Amino acid sequence: MSDYDLLLLGAGHAHLGVLRRWALVERPPGRIALLSPGPQAWYSGMLPGLLAGRHAAADCQVELLALCRAAKVELIISPVQSLSAAQQQVQLADGRSLKARWLSLNVGAQIATPPQQGDAMQLLAVKPFADFLAGWQQWQAVPQPLAILGGGAAGVELALALAGQVPQLALFCAGHLLDGLSSGLRLRALGHLRQRGVWVREDCPISRIENDCLLSGDEPVWRGRRLLLASGAKAFAWPAHSGLGCDEQGFVLVAPTLQSYTHPTIFAAGDCASLAGARKSGVYAVRQGPVLAANLGAALRGLPLKRYRPQRHSLALLATGDGGALLDWYGHSAGGQLYGRWKDWLDKGFIRRHSL
Ligand SMILES: Cc1cc2nc3c(=O)[nH]c(=O)nc-3n(C[C@H](O)[C@H](O)[C@H](O)COP(=O)(O)OP(=O)(O)OC[C@H]3O[C@@H](n4cnc5c(N)ncnc54)[C@H](O)[C@@H]3O)c2cc1C
Repeated sequence: MSDYDLLLLGAGHAHLGVLRRWALVERPPGRIALLSPGPQAWYSGMLPGLLAGRHAAADCQVELLALCRAAKVELIISPVQSLSAAQQQVQLADGRSLKARWLSLNVGAQIATPPQQGDAMQLLAVKPFADFLAGWQQWQAVPQPLAILGGGAAGVELALALAGQVPQLALFCAGHLLDGLSSGLRLRALGHLRQRGVWVREDCPISRIENDCLLSGDEPVWRGRRLLLASGAKAFAWPAHSGLGCDEQGFVLVAPTLQSYTHPTIFAAGDCASLAGARKSGVYAVRQGPVLAANLGAALRGLPLKRYRPQRHSLALLATGDGGALLDWYGHSAGGQLYGRWKDWLDKGFIRRHSL
């Protein structure tokens, strides 16, 4: 068993920010390691552009070894399998056990799957991205009609990126398209989707899959053999089994300092954390990075911690698959190629900032 001062679990957006800050400013004292399933961290904001053929895979990833070297942090390539919050101990998939005085979780979330009966329909979840891209490459070789589950920003961006690459495309949303964003943005997105031949079904929650059929309640709503899952974030099971206090959906309950309420020596940020006012989106995870970096440093040095305050509004920029983007800002919407160029600039800037 190896002992560390701090283990960073997952190379999510917040941890990337932590590593960058430590590389550029000052790294706190102690033995620190990052645990990641692979040597790269995918940047979700560029995934739709990658699928639309506008980016190369290498442009959408952060190389973790270089970033960790710059931050003087060990990189351990293996996914976390389980965690004991009481013992501050992490079990890795490769069999290793690691202990640390402080832990920080930024492992994101997985995608919910409706119950399935029969195996006539193939399912492909958009996360983890590496598995998704490998699966999509196989599907792309023999295009077939496709349904996408999830009418949030991810589902809309994927539908617009993939329209034209498959013979028929349907998009299913449990509620309204882009719930929580402005009605202007929803109308613009609906216009783009219709123009690109995507069949959109709003207020159509998919309750189960029976053979080659999607059912909403007991009503059959779509028949086909391929379903892409891009619906809301579902918590991984292991944090809830670790003894950490979690909300009813299994996300780690954290205080504004990003410390677990039940185990203050464990921090959590991004989609895997549950904090009032913080949405499950990359934008919020990125904003948590500086506070998390400061607090992990303060924890290691025995200093007081800062509080993270979620921003009330956040900018949404949705790629339309043709180089353009739709913007939502304080309830106002707009769209066009100019916003697409702005989104590209912001996205590439994120990768550049973390390529040290
Ligand atoms: C197609 C798509 C497009 C999106 N576009 C946007 C956008 O434009 N803007 C936006 O704000 N949000 C966007 N989102 C949402 C966004 O991806 C998530 O909200 C965001 O990634 C959450 O960040 P995070 O830091 O919590 O975790 P993530 O970015 O998901 O990172 C989690 C990391 O933890 C690692 N990990 C997972 N399990 C383990 C484990 N067991 N052990 C160790 N490491 C593990 C993963 O490999 C990953 O590197 C999009 C989502 C999708 C699917």
